[in-house]
Amino acid sequence: MSSPRGIAILGSTGSIGRSTLAVIALHPEAFKVAVLGAFNSWQAIVEQAKAFHPETVVLVDAAAAAEARAALRDAGSATRVESGEQALKDAVSAANVHMVMAAIVGAAGLQPTLAAVRAGKRVLLANKEALVMTGPLLMDEVRRAGAELIPIDSEHNAIFQCMPGGYLPGDPADGVTRVILTASGGPFRCTSAEKMANATPDEACAHPKWKMGRKISVDSATLMNKGLEVIEATLLFGLPESKVDVVVHPQSVVHSLVEYADGSLLAQLGAPDMRTPIAQALAWPARFASGVQSLDLIAVGQLAFEPPDHNRFPSLTLARAAARAGGTAPTVLNAANEVAVQAFLDLRLNFVGISTVIDKVLQRLDSSPVKALGDVLEADAAARRLANTLIEQSAGAST
Ligand code: NAD
Ligand code: MG
Repeated sequence: MSSPRGIAILGSTGSIGRSTLAVIALHPEAFKVAVLGAFNSWQAIVEQAKAFHPETVVLVDAAAAAEARAALRDAGSATRVESGEQALKDAVSAANVHMVMAAIVGAAGLQPTLAAVRAGKRVLLANKEALVMTGPLLMDEVRRAGAELIPIDSEHNAIFQCMPGGYLPGDPADGVTRVILTASGGPFRCTSAEKMANATPDEACAHPKWKMGRKISVDSATLMNKGLEVIEATLLFGLPESKVDVVVHPQSVVHSLVEYADGSLLAQLGAPDMRTPIAQALAWPARFASGVQSLDLIAVGQLAFEPPDHNRFPSLTLARAAARAGGTAPTVLNAANEVAVQAFLDLRLNFVGISTVIDKVLQRLDSSPVKALGDVLEADAAARRLANTLIEQSAGAST
């Protein structure tokens, strides 16, 4: 038996992080949890550290790190607790780390993900925002460092599984003419535009098929999640936006499809449970158990496919336009979306306001070429400032 592989889990206290630890717990001989990282959820990470005995825990928030340090010391744990973003970057780059689960939500995941890529690790990418905001830069870094990027997003993982043998993301695959992303349609698939306009955060987060963090749940309700995934697919699989289709598939059983030049469509099917893509990526190129029960096709009965409604879900149209524009447009789209979604969750913006804000920010900030990371960070900051200003103005106008 080969020796256990060191893994760092960024965002370990979140939905993907917890599912990753659940899969790892089934294969204690195969992995050594070296690093657990999160923002400030110290109680949760202390429990994880007691169960998995990592060498290092990183909480970006210093006060939370101090709490975790004290709690682990009292428990007699040998785990070292660090704080700050630099500690996260150092921890993922360490020699004892073989693979990194990048599952921090939003742009906050960019720097540690980039550090893992630059250190040439196998990076299991859940944090789609990091890829969308950097555009081809991150993929260039993957090639340069000889890192392996394996998609965790269920659609992209499905596509990865349907690609020719030996394929790794980064370049176009021989014979592939198109990919088709499936979308559940989210909680508002059948909701009228009038009702959607004033949907509450809890309604938006009540996803019919997947249990996820609140940011991605809101993205699923606006279909911006699918928009971000279109951009993610263009970058991972080297395809133009016109070759990335989206179909709504309410059963969420077909996780995505790849079309070949001969007309074949290959699909990956399974229960809607993130432990399957996580286990596929952890074990790749082998296979092992994920803890997910096998899919009963008779119980599923029917598979339906329908077009997305671009009128009720303008975010998908905005994302496609940003994908075509390229340069900083996807960075701006992602940043404006993060700010608008947070404002919606904080009850400072209504549901329709999310796409209105993104649209306005994209109209006002012209896309410019991305030559270096600095261009990305500048566009990200400018889009956040403008989105915040627009949200404050709209709040002022409605009071
Ligand atoms: P979540 O909100 O449940 O968890 C987020 C994690 O990130 C937490 O551990 C949190 O502590 C950490 N975090 C947040 N801000 C941070 C910061 N500034 N620095 C360090 N850590 C920080 O989110 P999630 O649903 O697990 O999603 C994580 C990522 O995976 C997102 O990019 C999401 O789009 C992607 N994803 C999630 C799912 C899913 O089923 N949940 C599916 C596909 C893709
Ligand atoms: Mg997805």
